[in-house]
Amino acid sequence: MPDMEQAAREAFAQWRGSADSIVVARAPGRVNLVGDHTDYNDGLVLPMILDRAVYVAARISSDGSHHFWSENYREGVTYSPGQWPKVRPGHWVSYIAGMIQELPPPGPIELLVMGNVPLGAGLSSSAALEMATGLALEALRGKPVPPLELAQIGQRVEHRYAGVKCGIMDQIVSRAGRTGHALFLDCHSLNWEHIPIQSKDTQFLVIDSRIRRQLATSKYNERRAECQKALEYIRASNVAITSLRHVGDHHVKELKESILQRRIRHVISENKRVKAACSAVIHSDWSRLGRIFSLSHESLREDYEVSCKEMDFMAAYAELCPGVFGARMMGGGFGGCTINLVRAGEGPAVAASVTAAYEDKYKQKPVAHIIGPGIEAGCSYD
Ligand code: ADP
Ligand code: MG
Repeated sequence: MPDMEQAAREAFAQWRGSADSIVVARAPGRVNLVGDHTDYNDGLVLPMILDRAVYVAARISSDGSHHFWSENYREGVTYSPGQWPKVRPGHWVSYIAGMIQELPPPGPIELLVMGNVPLGAGLSSSAALEMATGLALEALRGKPVPPLELAQIGQRVEHRYAGVKCGIMDQIVSRAGRTGHALFLDCHSLNWEHIPIQSKDTQFLVIDSRIRRQLATSKYNERRAECQKALEYIRASNVAITSLRHVGDHHVKELKESILQRRIRHVISENKRVKAACSAVIHSDWSRLGRIFSLSHESLREDYEVSCKEMDFMAAYAELCPGVFGARMMGGGFGGCTINLVRAGEGPAVAASVTAAYEDKYKQKPVAHIIGPGIEAGCSYD
């Protein structure tokens, strides 16, 4: 049994006096190799599961109330079914209560959560929490939920109870991603394909700047609104176009505002990069994948304008290090993590060099993590 799963059982036993009849579910965080800000435009993405996950241990409660406990925050909540816990949207309890609202268990529950996906770093700890909770609820209900449906429930919970208008990528990859594979997802058809990664020559390295900016959420929502506005302009003369997925280079000039032109240019070019990245992964063409990383960063910086000087520095500095094929900012932007594609064995040296240079310049030490074999979502019973 994985260490974290065992730790969750032990923590549960300590919290409730015993761990009899519990189910333990897990769901991983993720990186996105390429395809940022494309999912909510019905576009293409190429994420991969992490070797870090959120674990949820749960059972039916014996006293008629819901009891939740977070090991990470060292705090708990108790409330009666039919009530709503007194927490702000996005509080850890809101995700769990939201999932319960969508997938009601046969009675109130005791639920403990712990995880090692960094919180708020853009590695999708929230989707992992939703999917792990969902899998635990499936087990308690005794009714399986198809993976796509569970992902859509998680997305709805994130929209309604956390106030984040996220796309569907994070929940799908957390629920359905496989070890040793990237997941090529078409966010329009919602079909996906598991793309094997022959990783003997390479390593993926995540470097977390530890910058968490409030601005990230407001800018994310602003970009979504800009994409919507661009789509409306284009639809005025092309009603058949229902999302930016179906927009081509020739549509760019139809837009009068240069900001909107740049926003959709990013979406169009990023979708093309996802297809190219898929082919690079299939052929183990790491130099090509590295170039795609660099171009994605440039597009996010110049056209989509979601980077910041710290992420620009971290990606540019990494690309000067020996053994680095490419680096880019990842996720919503304005902080969070870079993803770096490096030659096998070079990860520790690159991590040391980038974190030292960054600390020297910005007086804060980033946290680097070489990604190991991904942890697939699942559930175990006593
Ligand atoms: P990200 O998904 O990029 O990590 P979010 O802000 O979307 O960032 O989600 C982070 C939130 O998810 C946390 O603030 C917390 O509410 C919840 N969360 C994630 N993992 C855990 C965990 N292990 N324990 C409790 N809450 C968690
Ligand atoms: Mg999230």
